[in-house]
Amino acid sequence: MAEQAQPAGDGEIYRTLLESTKAIPWQIDWKTATFSYIGPQIEALLGWPTVSWKTALDWAERIHPDERQYVVEYCMSQSASGIDHEADYRALTADGRHVWIRDVVHVIRDEAGEVTSLVGFMFDISERKANEDRIDELQKTLMALSYQDGLTGVANRRRFDEVLAAEWKKSRETGAPLSLVLGDIDLFKSYNDLHGHLQGDDCLKQVAASLKAVAARPGDLVARYGGEEFAILLPDTTRSEALAMAEQCRRAIARIGIVHGEGRLLGMSFGVGTRSGDEAIDVREFVGEIDRKLYAAKRGGRDAVVA
Ligand code: GH3
Ligand code: MG
Ligand code: MG
Repeated sequence: MAEQAQPAGDGEIYRTLLESTKAIPWQIDWKTATFSYIGPQIEALLGWPTVSWKTALDWAERIHPDERQYVVEYCMSQSASGIDHEADYRALTADGRHVWIRDVVHVIRDEAGEVTSLVGFMFDISERKANEDRIDELQKTLMALSYQDGLTGVANRRRFDEVLAAEWKKSRETGAPLSLVLGDIDLFKSYNDLHGHLQGDDCLKQVAASLKAVAARPGDLVARYGGEEFAILLPDTTRSEALAMAEQCRRAIARIGIVHGEGRLLGMSFGVGTRSGDEAIDVREFVGEIDRKLYAAKRGGRDAVVA
């Protein structure tokens, strides 16, 4: 080994190392529950001067109230049992903010196995926590998007299928009526041919918004069922209520006043059905029956409701 300058004493080396890390070292005397040491970095992170960290109480009081009780109890019980542990919590700053901390704790025992002190490091994990929050948010957004029709913003077919299955089961169990309305825009192929696909898209958005304005009770679900077909699921809704709502939908579409061709407004046809009592049909038959009513409305001249 090359010749070196006289090294500093061990204590000095350790202190220099401890106080130059980003993690904040500390030591608590177990019997008196007082800090025998805390790294000066604590002041840069939380704003409280080192001399203000006197007892374990100073530490506990600076933990966010939401996790204070759990963290204090957990750390006390682990320490008393001599188990190394770690805890995440928000620490209060001198200017009233909170910083996410991970406290990693080692329990020091004497030869007899008695706990004498706790030593640990506090790590600033606020950036990691912020990233976790962002990922949670993103996940929620993606989840919502995966159930949404991209063009109209109403529920998509996947969402509809799931809710229908759940509501069907509920209706069978409780005997509450469940109504379904299927609607299909009339002569939409020729609307696209006459006005272009982009205007057709606008039309779909307006239709979706109108249907949503009618089926707006909690529990009502408007979904894009296929290209220019919409499904409106109406839990706890009787046959006559559903018929009235379908008729309201038909009128709402007429009221938008979308011109289809010369002197003619865009219309929509609807089929309505209700599951009530203990009918022994399954959900596919139920939807198939309403689909047949919708096509009966088409055959009857369109812009109509068939129940
Ligand atoms: P009917 O009254 O019998 O329902 O006649 P229709 O022309 O509406 O029925 P058809 O099934 O022949 O045509 C449906 C049209 O809907 C064809 C398709 O181009 C159009 N369509 C489906 N999805 C979209 C879409 O996302 N945007 C636009 N602009 N058009 C769409
Ligand atoms: Mg169609
Ligand atoms: Mg159509």
